[in-house]
Amino acid sequence: MTAGKHDNVTQQYDIETLGVRAGVHRTPFGEHAEALFLTSSFVFENAAQAAARFAGEDEGFVYSRYTNPTVQAFEERLAALEGAECAVATSSGMAAILGCVMGLMKAGEHIVVSRSVFGATMQLFNNLLARFGIETTYVSPTDPDEWAAAVRPNTRLFFAETPSNPVMEIVDIGALGEIARRCGAKLVVDNCFCSPAIQRPIDLGADIVIHSATKYLDGQGRVMGGAVLGERAVVKDPLTTFLRNAGATLSPFNAWVVLKGLETLKIRMDAQSATAAALATWLEAHPSVRRVHYPGLASHPQHALAMRQQRTGGAIVSFEVEGGREAAWKVVDATRMISITANLGDTKSTITHPASTTHGRLKPEARAASGIGEGLLRVSVGLESVGDLQGDLARGLS
Ligand SMILES: *Cc1c(COP(=O)(O)O)cnc(C)c1O
Repeated sequence: MTAGKHDNVTQQYDIETLGVRAGVHRTPFGEHAEALFLTSSFVFENAAQAAARFAGEDEGFVYSRYTNPTVQAFEERLAALEGAECAVATSSGMAAILGCVMGLMKAGEHIVVSRSVFGATMQLFNNLLARFGIETTYVSPTDPDEWAAAVRPNTRLFFAETPSNPVMEIVDIGALGEIARRCGAKLVVDNCFCSPAIQRPIDLGADIVIHSATKYLDGQGRVMGGAVLGERAVVKDPLTTFLRNAGATLSPFNAWVVLKGLETLKIRMDAQSATAAALATWLEAHPSVRRVHYPGLASHPQHALAMRQQRTGGAIVSFEVEGGREAAWKVVDATRMISITANLGDTKSTITHPASTTHGRLKPEARAASGIGEGLLRVSVGLESVGDLQGDLARGLS
């Protein structure tokens, strides 16, 4: 590959620029758009070069389970956007979380996890990693003292999501990062709900960032993907070894789709956030709505903290309707446009009833403790007009 004038666009550029320019390495053909390298292996000039590649003495590509030029372009662009030294791409968001734990922890060690994390994350810790000797303690996302009290001599990682799903609790990233550092642990933040266009956890004090690229990074509901980001010395070798040997590699095609998704990340997040804010304000004034959970509203209990960490309130709004499950299902079933699906981060708005879907397997007491009532609905706001979204929700709320 030749180094062209647009190669290696670095972090001195603004986020809009990095989204379209970072990670570009043109081939001698001089293609303008990023190339898609659909190849499982790479050829060597001779036996000596093959040996040097396998020994790690020559940086070139070997086999796409290890890495691939298109995957690397995605890693460089996402790292630039997050302000991270390095990114390692994975086949999904869950593979990123698994890889982070497999790469950085061993049997007999301990992780402190926010009680408000993605359902599959909780299942991963409770049902799979527990069998391999990883000990987990769950604590409140909003009380840093609980995190400090949960630390043991064998604690390696803190793991949090902010804002949390589905009731939008905010984790104080700076406070947790400080507690983690004092204890010799690393703070991992799953930045799926915000993306780097809204929140950059490393700037705020996190050590490691996790992404489900399936959500806002692709942003159009097409492919699965994930990534782990952080300092090279912390993330690169453990995650690369995990991928080489465990195979949870991002496919070049998916990497290319997400790489192109990153080009519109900032404008999508700005537009979707603005619509979400308008929708949240409208819902808060609606007589059938008991409560709205949106970090951008002054009524959010952690509004000030959220606005210190995030550029906007984000594009996800949850709200409680009067009348419990029956009333909530009526709102879902009365929609004609908004998609009834559990996915989020799409340009198409989606609606979910968490108590009977994503959080349906939790015991009712656990749901209550997490604030997930029977009347709660979550809307992931897309790029449709505010008026059309209001019209679609108003039908079931009346
Ligand atoms: C979807 C999601 C994940 C898992 O990502 P996949 O790409 O579906 O594996 C992890 N964390 C959060 C917050 C998510 O929303």
